[in-house]
Amino acid sequence: MRVRFLYLSLPFLFLIFLLCPPRLAAQEWKNPYETQYATVYYLKESDLNVFTRNIGRGLQFFGESQEKNPMLAKNRVDSIVERVKRILDMYPPNLHFKIYIYPTHRGLSLKYLAMGSFEKSPIAFYDHKTRAIYLSLSDTTDGVLAHEIAHAVINFFFPVPPPARMQEILAQYADKHLWGD
Ligand SMILES: [Zn+2]
Repeated sequence: MRVRFLYLSLPFLFLIFLLCPPRLAAQEWKNPYETQYATVYYLKESDLNVFTRNIGRGLQFFGESQEKNPMLAKNRVDSIVERVKRILDMYPPNLHFKIYIYPTHRGLSLKYLAMGSFEKSPIAFYDHKTRAIYLSLSDTTDGVLAHEIAHAVINFFFPVPPPARMQEILAQYADKHLWGD
């Protein structure tokens, strides 16, 4: 009986520990950063700067940074949205979503778990219920962001969103062809 109790309670305690880490509870999102298509949530100014650098591969000009040009993140996010819409040839009206930047994959994994998924968290995901992209900063590239934006565009475009597998093929296509004309 005691053994069974331990067997049941240890994973449960571990889950509570995962869901309530004291450091994460103390973190708060800064005032969000607005672009035409997205409201971007981040914890530290430097996270937004790194995010902007990470998504700049296809758009980079020497010496540009979010610190020097506060419009840079907006320009980059909106350019990627425009390209994804063109690649998919889908132009949903009222396209607007949130982007949550988690500094680490662990932080993102906790969010994924808290949203009810017990599988291993991907490096980024889109949830249409909350109209939000959740991503781990260290894994973010322009391709990763384009992939998740494609999920957002597809879900806004179709009244009944297509099956997951079909969405995945379309999102991978958008990611792969992001900067190819
Ligand atoms: Zn996907």
